Amino acid sequence: MAAKLQLTDVTVRYGSGAGALTAVDGVSLTVPSGGTVGLVGESGCGKSTIARAVVALVPVASGTITLDGVDHTDVRKRRTREFRRRVQMVFQDPYASLNPRITIGGMLVEILAHIRKLRRAECRKEALRLLDLVGLPASALDRYPHQFSGGQRQRAAIARALAVEPELVIYDEVTSALDVSVQGAILNLLRQLQSELRLSYVFISHDLATVRYMSDTVSVMYLGRVVENVATDELFDHPEHPYTRALMASLPRLGGRRRPVPLKGDLPDPRKPPSGCRFHTRCPVGPKFNPERTVCIERDPQKSAAGKSHNAACHFADAAEDAPGEHVASMPAPAPLGRRKGT
Ligand code: ADP
Ligand code: MG
Repeated sequence: MAAKLQLTDVTVRYGSGAGALTAVDGVSLTVPSGGTVGLVGESGCGKSTIARAVVALVPVASGTITLDGVDHTDVRKRRTREFRRRVQMVFQDPYASLNPRITIGGMLVEILAHIRKLRRAECRKEALRLLDLVGLPASALDRYPHQFSGGQRQRAAIARALAVEPELVIYDEVTSALDVSVQGAILNLLRQLQSELRLSYVFISHDLATVRYMSDTVSVMYLGRVVENVATDELFDHPEHPYTRALMASLPRLGGRRRPVPLKGDLPDPRKPPSGCRFHTRCPVGPKFNPERTVCIERDPQKSAAGKSHNAACHFADAAEDAPGEHVASMPAPAPLGRRKGT
């Protein structure tokens, strides 16, 4: 399948001089046409920064961004009306994208008239179709954002994004502020819309369970880096990176596998990331528990992982499931890289 969106070695910095922070450091992502890439990791690892970089809210320091194979690295190319129409973003807080003084109908009509150039009569009809598409009643047309529940407001924000007929939608923690009972309905809606409208998605969440439900492939991030990137089923069946395994310890069940050591300790200061492997200060199989593993402090596994059979940026990915202190010399067979079967 052709890539809808491709990020190659993208680096994003905030600030300059001594206070500079590299929030995203050499990240590559491939969003297939009609597919979903999930981005997961603890708060502060750079997920939203990737989203903001794609929609040109922050500049890219290095690396390339392409849409349908066409280079869009130059920020001016991502600030065109054309790009904004093709790539939409939905945030955790729908208030950020909904004007509190305009009814949902007014908002949709404005977009339909100005961007899709529909005539007034068509606008109303199309607004009603969009509301129906996201599961809102026709009466929502005349309501203001504050007159909706959290879930309804998020549906309105989704309708707003879909109004311009995008090809790719980036969802950043869209269900994180909602009641658990509402989250599932929104996730189902997103999946339904994707297959109906053949949309490509980037789905961002700190919550592994929702990312698992939504994504064909998952990129696990730690301190600005992708540490593991693989098909969703493969990731959950055979997590290779100790960080991925630690994140999974927070999930209720892990099919047939030993429970890994849950994650302890705070995220290091992103302004001064640890040397070598950035996870080494917290890693359950790293030098903290295995002092002889100095390679984790000395060498960046991302830079040395090229050509290895696994999908994890880890010097000891093959040993990740063994108890701290155990040393495993053999490498496992390469994991098959298949796409999750569509539903
Ligand atoms: P996530 O979405 O994974 O929680 P973010 O992309 O929001 O992470 O943040 C990544 C890092 O960049 C964090 O260390 C955060 O504090 C920092 N950061 C985010 N936005 C800004 C900003 N506007 N200025 C400076 N630093 C920022
Ligand atoms: Mg975020």
